[in-house]
Amino acid sequence: MRDLLLTQCCILCASHQGDDLGICRDCLQDLPWHDAQQCPQCAMPSNGLLCGSCLQSTPNYDATYALFRYDYPLDKLLQQYKYRESLHLANMLSALWIRKFGAEKFKPKNLNRKNLNTHQRQRNYQALI
Ligand SMILES: [Zn+2]
Ligand SMILES: [Zn+2]
Repeated sequence: MRDLLLTQCCILCASHQGDDLGICRDCLQDLPWHDAQQCPQCAMPSNGLLCGSCLQSTPNYDATYALFRYDYPLDKLLQQYKYRESLHLANMLSALWIRKFGAEKFKPKNLNRKNLNTHQRQRNYQALI
């Protein structure tokens, strides 16, 4: 009984199998992982080389590390995070991102405020999310 009370429920299926991130193994596997070949610069689906969009207009960033496709249920989780301020989702998503890509890639680069205009600062902020 004590173990049952201390076990965290999965945030997606409400089973009592949630791990330390709050999601059970089955739901974790069913997330829309972005496993397809992708453009190394923008992470949009491609043949693994720079996509046409990046070749045509080079983005102001060097690389994108996309963990998921914007698909169910991730779209709903992001809406909860953004509009209902469900901040615990930030912990879960950032931990999953770090598991896959490593903590060293989680730090934004070139955040020298003197050298960045407002648009560039906003883009780096978005990279943190
Ligand atoms: Zn679940
Ligand atoms: Zn691209």
